[in-house]
Amino acid sequence: MTDKNKIPYKIYLEEQEMPKQWYNVRADMKHKPAPLLNPDTLQPMTAEELSGVFCEELVKQELDDTTAYFDIPKEILDFYKMYRPSPLVRAYCLEEALGTPAKIYYKFEGNNTSGSHKLNSAIAQAYYAKKQGLKGVTTETGAGQWGTALSMACAYLGLDCRVYMVKCSYEQKPFRREVMRTYGANVTPSPSELTRVGRKILAEHPGTTGSLGCAISEAVEDATSHEGYRYVLGSVLSQVMLHQSVIGLETKAALDKYNITPDIIIGCAGGGSNLGGLIAPFMGEKLRGEKDYRFIAVEPASCPSLTRGRYAYDYCDTGMVCPLAKMYTLGSGFIPSANHAGGLRYHGMSSVLSQLYDDKLMTAVSVEQTSVFDAATKFARIEGILPAPESSHAIKVAIDEAMRCKETGETKTIVFGLTGTGYFDMVAYGKYNDGDMHDYVPTDAELEAGFAGLPNVNL
Ligand SMILES: *Cc1c(COP(=O)(O)O)cnc(C)c1O
Repeated sequence: MTDKNKIPYKIYLEEQEMPKQWYNVRADMKHKPAPLLNPDTLQPMTAEELSGVFCEELVKQELDDTTAYFDIPKEILDFYKMYRPSPLVRAYCLEEALGTPAKIYYKFEGNNTSGSHKLNSAIAQAYYAKKQGLKGVTTETGAGQWGTALSMACAYLGLDCRVYMVKCSYEQKPFRREVMRTYGANVTPSPSELTRVGRKILAEHPGTTGSLGCAISEAVEDATSHEGYRYVLGSVLSQVMLHQSVIGLETKAALDKYNITPDIIIGCAGGGSNLGGLIAPFMGEKLRGEKDYRFIAVEPASCPSLTRGRYAYDYCDTGMVCPLAKMYTLGSGFIPSANHAGGLRYHGMSSVLSQLYDDKLMTAVSVEQTSVFDAATKFARIEGILPAPESSHAIKVAIDEAMRCKETGETKTIVFGLTGTGYFDMVAYGKYNDGDMHDYVPTDAELEAGFAGLPNVNL
């Protein structure tokens, strides 16, 4: 009997099998992630200090290293029901095309209008803002996925949403911009004249097309200078990883139904939220000594924070207004070369994943973008889904691992996170199809220049 008779192409979860709580992997970590520091005093940020920037309930989640499970509020569960569970697909067609004995599964998060996993945390953050009685939230967006997700969540809850969009994306991705505006968000190209930090950056670098770090600084300033507003962030923070644990919990519930135990779990890593969420319950088992898994973070060779970065306290934004975080980083001044996986261009990495990586509980690899688009195109033609460039980093490494199994004859079970669709990335696919895509790997000297900007806390 082949697997096809036993395990369906898609493993569904019934409503009663859906996760009702998020899982906080920090509760099971022996070495806790280092605390956020106040950039002025260099002391750990207190709840009071953080609550000037973030919603109260989210501050509690951010600082809680010990509570393993958080109930998902009913309102959020109801919203999740509209697009979750996301499909867990057995990639039978890909296995066959590759001729591998490996069993490949992917968890597809692109099945909602925003097109990625980011909606899982957007709805949670918007909910807590609403519950606190706030008027609205501010944020930044690079490639646009987070801004789109947040706009949807705010529209649903009736909250004002102010998005600072990196100027080059604002101009190059008009469709993302219009989706956000259709959901009622106010979208401003960053750097802008609306904030002090924006005006300063414009004066120093006239004609700049902006960066994520700069847009963060503007969004934070906007929130802290307007009553009834708080800032929200789509990745990197521990609270975001907590919300994204819904990905891993669903994956585990679905696999458990068929007694499937993965050997290798793979995800792309930008700020670390989808990977952290996908691996969370499995990592929990590993941390508690119950099971062992191999976890692989995949990052672009052009922005290699885990594979070539330093584990150090760093600024989270260019304007240096945010708390300092200890993480694998390339330095907040590092500007990655133009790369079509906009969601993976952040200079740092979640402090939770950074600590797990430093403790050798997970591994990381970096891959070049043309090889990523080779894998993306192959996947689209075989499995049907047109993947986001970010997600395709995980596809590339899943295929590499499956081909290794073909050489050795091992029947490993591989699970990877397919974080989103590539519908809004057709300019990038166009470049690839025209043979006009290039790889760029920063030199050691370029990385040194980024490290030179690390704050002195690390001495
Ligand atoms: C934002 C994004 C990522 C990267 O963010 P993480 O926080 O590392 O998960 C990956 N894939 C897609 C589709 C995204 O939108």
